[in-house]
Amino acid sequence: MPARCFPRDEFPRCSKPAPPVRAPALFVASEFCGRRGFGTHHPLAIPRVSAVLELCDRLGWLDGDSRRTSRAAGVDDLTVFHDPAYVEALRASDAAGRVEPRVRERHGFGNFENPLFPGVFERAATAVGGSILAAELALEGRVVFHPAGGTHHGRRDRASGFCYFNDPVFAIRRLLDGGAARVLYVDLDAHHGDGVQEAFIDEARVRTVSIHEQGRWPHTGAADDTGRGYARNLPVPAGFNDSELAFLLEEVVLPLADGFAPEAVVVTCGTDALAGDPLSDMALSNVALWEAVDRVVGRAGPAVVLGGGGYNPWTLARCWTGLWGRLSCREIPMELPAAAQLILRGLECDLVDDEDVEAAWLTTLADVPRPGAVRAEVESLASRGRALHVVA
Ligand SMILES: [Zn+2]
Repeated sequence: MPARCFPRDEFPRCSKPAPPVRAPALFVASEFCGRRGFGTHHPLAIPRVSAVLELCDRLGWLDGDSRRTSRAAGVDDLTVFHDPAYVEALRASDAAGRVEPRVRERHGFGNFENPLFPGVFERAATAVGGSILAAELALEGRVVFHPAGGTHHGRRDRASGFCYFNDPVFAIRRLLDGGAARVLYVDLDAHHGDGVQEAFIDEARVRTVSIHEQGRWPHTGAADDTGRGYARNLPVPAGFNDSELAFLLEEVVLPLADGFAPEAVVVTCGTDALAGDPLSDMALSNVALWEAVDRVVGRAGPAVVLGGGGYNPWTLARCWTGLWGRLSCREIPMELPAAAQLILRGLECDLVDDEDVEAAWLTTLADVPRPGAVRAEVESLASRGRALHVVA
């Protein structure tokens, strides 16, 4: 009996331009995707892309034609954006297995937030290499998914927020270098995309838009923060729901995109904005995130979709697997086959109590949608966002 699927029309949809005609979507992964990093007691020491790859494999959604393997970016590539002294400090510290106190102080790694662990340099450099490759493939007129990317807090000369380098910056730069006259960056992670905004603060060819939870680390990205005119920030209240995301897209993000007319888009789709994430209090369903990504990547031919944060391995694996399903035009099954359920049943996470693991997280990909009222603070954000369009 064939698996029952959600008819695509049942997902909430709004009017939008016809999507660009594209070559088939591609999935970029590396050998690091099957390995855990970050030691043992860190929010990122959970199965992430490895679980996505296993789920996709059990669903028959990844074959040799749709997967590409990324390699580490070289020092010459990394120093196009990052400070050579920082790149060398991370490389040398990884090789030595220790961090000098002055290096820890200067470059922000070797602490609990951004620990030194074996292979950290190559792992971080591979995320950059994957995003450069994703951008090159996207320039062929594709949507390319690179879930190991999305390290949006990395700075030119220091690690920040679990991010050592900043791979979204490299994706955007590669798209510009490859001929895209304007690149739109949309950050849907629960935390402000501060590193990307800062990297392009003077770049008229890039618009950065970040939707993130207000009052949360890194405590930047206020509604009136437009950088030097090219950034937009939408700090949303706790409990942010599907209806509110659709509202902000319709009222702010998509009009901005249409006014800017990007020739390429980059999206960071952290899953920490989903209900059930232990490090944030947003309340989106994965269906709402898929829809948002779908609508943003519909604004240009070349599109790179990156991962990002996400600290609940069940909601993360289901979201990114389903996102790849949507991007590669698969039907989302109502119930996962037994072999796929086994992957979800085998996950563990110290930050999520056993009694909080919902039954649906073990048997399905798509969440039940989480609509709700559009609150006055969200309406107010949209009003301010619209006013900013006028002066941009
Ligand atoms: Zn985050």
